[in-house]
Amino acid sequence: MSIIPNVQKLHKGAFLNLCIYTCKIEFMQKDDVLRLMRDPNLIHPEKLTLLSNIANLAETLNMSCYLVGGSVRDLLLGRPINDLDVIVEGDAIDLAKKLVEVYGGKQTPHFKFRTAFWHVPNSEHVVDLITARNETYEKPGALPTVKPSTIEDDLARRDFTINAMALRLDGEGMGEVLDPLGGGADLERGVIRYLHPNSFIDDPTRIFRAIRYETRYGFEIEPETLAAINKEALKVLQSLSGERLRNELDLILDEDEAARMVLRVASLGILDAIHPTMPEFNQDYAEYLEMDAHLDVQADRRAMGFILWFMDLSEEDIFLLVNRLDFSNEMSLNVWAGAQLKRSLVHLIGARPSEWTYALEKLPLLAIFAVYLISRENALLSYISIWRHVRPRTTGNDLKAMGLPPGPRFSEILIRLRSAWLDGEVSNESQEKELLAKLL
Ligand code: ATP
Ligand code: MG
Repeated sequence: MSIIPNVQKLHKGAFLNLCIYTCKIEFMQKDDVLRLMRDPNLIHPEKLTLLSNIANLAETLNMSCYLVGGSVRDLLLGRPINDLDVIVEGDAIDLAKKLVEVYGGKQTPHFKFRTAFWHVPNSEHVVDLITARNETYEKPGALPTVKPSTIEDDLARRDFTINAMALRLDGEGMGEVLDPLGGGADLERGVIRYLHPNSFIDDPTRIFRAIRYETRYGFEIEPETLAAINKEALKVLQSLSGERLRNELDLILDEDEAARMVLRVASLGILDAIHPTMPEFNQDYAEYLEMDAHLDVQADRRAMGFILWFMDLSEEDIFLLVNRLDFSNEMSLNVWAGAQLKRSLVHLIGARPSEWTYALEKLPLLAIFAVYLISRENALLSYISIWRHVRPRTTGNDLKAMGLPPGPRFSEILIRLRSAWLDGEVSNESQEKELLAKLL
């Protein structure tokens, strides 16, 4: 099986890399790679056992088997690997079935791409099993048409050279890195390089991916690749569905350096292509992305990210963006509430605790917490940690027992009692009873 014809189809820069790369091959000597694989800080021993079980089984099915993509990149960078992406020359669904037969667990096949997830028994691990395939794009931005092929073809359909390496797992070849496109050299140089000039037109979501890797690893998008993020590619990006774009923004928000990534996205004109009202991420808010779960406010990095990102927008702009990005109702409410509360803060300052409480009660806690973070308005914190939990001792049942006929007057009385507690008008049960007697 020759890799050269595939390489020649590809970008000349990538071919050049292959030549430079062969001189630097010691970077990925088999023994070194095996050592990396056995480092428990990089691959958890349980995962390593899984990989070796899969490889052994693939061998019995006569399928060559590789770890591929981001996991290989991270391993060679000496970073712990998260995903287990395993690719076979053969049918991944057959392999998944066999794994379930021999080891148990469950498999979920995806017939269109002949891929399968193997849910490992008694464990949280899910292995992504991929059939090596070749892809063609019938129309820019459309999903690709695929057919089973060789590992080299599969590497050639990927996004960047650093993600287009495979690490052999089965048989004698275990530990060998297959790198026909010069990913190893680009990894050493810290460069993000496309595989062919049409890459971003075929799939503009790769633009976000490039920015994520660039910022995450402190790499640089190589000049020709950067130049390919041009008007034509942005035009295709503009036509992508809200869901696909939001998915990319979600992935950015998951990253440690999300705010800096958005800066880069903005500087390349991509925000405008998503929607003309798409704002920049206020860098002063960046530190607030790192929130821990406390104060009973459930941490949700993506929701926090979008609340902060859209905090300074008008209601009309938020409306346009939640439509463009196809937000869920919950996410829409979050971002709307954050911006709305920030705007109305000036009117609430100096209000009584009961007024704050009734104004805040219908808003999602996360949005309130976000506005607290950027404003440091203590009333918001008091609401989150204390006021929202305050209730009078008297209940509806008590009122009924006192002979009061149920009706709107019930809730009026209970609200009045709650306000009295909130505003310090009463501070113990007998004072509450006195007030209740007066109200009745
Ligand atoms: P991360 O660390 O962010 O998960 P990753 O490289 O593992 O990065 P995934 O989205 O998990 O990225 O995808 C796994 C691999 O699949 C990539 O390394 C890449 O080879 C390939 N891939 C993913 N998305 C694309 C795409 N849009 N175009 C081409 N190849 C892709
Ligand atoms: Mg991954």
